[in-house]
Amino acid sequence: MVDWLEGLRRAEDGTALMYIAGEWTKASDNGSRTVYNPATGDVIAVVAEATLADGERAIRAARAAFDEGPWRSSSAHERALLLLRLADKIDEHAAELAAVDTMNNGKPLRESEFDVTDAANCFRYYAGLATKPHGQAFDVPAPSQTFVVREPVGVCGQIIPWNYPLLMAVWKMAPALAAGNVCILKPSEVTPLSALILASLMEEVGFPPGVVNVLTGAGPVVGHLLAESHLVDKIAFTGGTVTGRSIMQAATGNLKKISLELGGKSPNIVFADADFETAVDYALYAIYVNAGQVCSAGSRLLIERSLHDRFMERLVERATRIQVGDGFDPNTEMGPLITPAHMEKVERYIATGLAEGARLLCGGKRPEGALGQRGNYLLPTIFTDTTPDMRIVQEEIFGPVLVVQTFSDEDEAIRLANDTIYGLAAAVFTSDVAKAHRVVKQVRAGITWINTYHPTYNEAPWGGYKQSGIGRELGTFGFEEYTEVKQINVNLAVEQTGWYRH
Ligand code: NDP
Repeated sequence: MVDWLEGLRRAEDGTALMYIAGEWTKASDNGSRTVYNPATGDVIAVVAEATLADGERAIRAARAAFDEGPWRSSSAHERALLLLRLADKIDEHAAELAAVDTMNNGKPLRESEFDVTDAANCFRYYAGLATKPHGQAFDVPAPSQTFVVREPVGVCGQIIPWNYPLLMAVWKMAPALAAGNVCILKPSEVTPLSALILASLMEEVGFPPGVVNVLTGAGPVVGHLLAESHLVDKIAFTGGTVTGRSIMQAATGNLKKISLELGGKSPNIVFADADFETAVDYALYAIYVNAGQVCSAGSRLLIERSLHDRFMERLVERATRIQVGDGFDPNTEMGPLITPAHMEKVERYIATGLAEGARLLCGGKRPEGALGQRGNYLLPTIFTDTTPDMRIVQEEIFGPVLVVQTFSDEDEAIRLANDTIYGLAAAVFTSDVAKAHRVVKQVRAGITWINTYHPTYNEAPWGGYKQSGIGRELGTFGFEEYTEVKQINVNLAVEQTGWYRH
């Protein structure tokens, strides 16, 4: 049998080591944490659990690598070559990385394979972008010449969640490294494995020591340290809104740069004139991919009232046929939730929905038989007959729970779409192009789709309005978040000002 975890660097006792200052290291107090497979509850690895001392060591190493090391003076061309080599390494190790994410996160293997391809291409995209022009030159009054250049921000603390373990690491590190920054990545404590394997590939292709550090440890401990440390110049975070708010507060001490990619309660708006089967298909894909554990999930289906009953009938028919199971089973279409605690949180939301008076159309429980006993599985769930004030309508559930709302016209659809604290994504299904554009223009969200849901491109900015976050990832926007802007003014006539008489 293939050992998919062969790429981990381990201590003699089998503990997977962290990567700090170019060295594979145990925790300063030898502490460790067990990592589980959410599909089975089985232990898959034991990893080092970083202490504050480990975090401080990583910060000092990153600081030295930025302030004194060769990285900052490397050319964009050199950095691009490293990123391209890394992308090829990811391709070489694609089967291993996909298997590790499925084992650790539970998502179906085909979803993990997709993430790995995206990860390699993200490094390629930023390798290309590194060498492209980023400056400006101004025609200011003589005898001056003014330029604007972009420079790296410095030491970047990067805190990522468990829903896309490899891809989130790459979305953070690729633009940061392309721009000449150094990184301290803190993966989720429950899904650290693919980030550690990525670090070993980075070491192999030759990133200088200290430029990339991967700290495996608890958010409130080392994550908080990264957010608070005055030696860290920027913090980039993806995760829940509550954690995002606490990171923002911790970051105020040295007013570090912040980018936050937080939650959502994204509306998927279906008009009666939409292509019926396409809209049904995407409504399922919008919510059930990655078992609904997606920041941009189409978790609210806004459906034109006249279409409601027919649409629900077909939606339920198809939702109940979705194959729930272990991500390694080729028949599986939806995997487990990440942890028992998270599954219980989603179950509490289902109970809340029932108590609030919403009508459960399907799911709402664990699968029957062995599957329901062993892993963190929930069946695809749909609630309708909701009102806008219900908690299940307003709050991010982050599981396979679709909440349906109805509208009678375009204005009501827009009003409901905007009626949460979030503004990450939105979609519109209609055959009327002008209506689609009118609606998209009125929806306060950073990512919008017309007659599709979920496509994400390395070239295009990712991030939200309102409480869905601050800043953007991906594309040129994501690169710019990792740069400082400097103006350089040159006097082309080197002579005294004549301002003072004596
Ligand atoms: P969190 O947002 O708490 O975790 C994301 C990352 O932040 C993890 O690496 C975590 O570390 C770290 N972290 C936690 N607390 C702190 C802290 N005080 N300072 C610095 N870093 C910290 O997600 P949860 O797993 O707790 O999920 C809670 C909810 O957040 C979910 O139910 C969902 O609604 C939402 N969420 C949204 C995501 C998105 O993509 N927008 C992704 C994940 C969750 P550790 O792993 O050690 O806790």
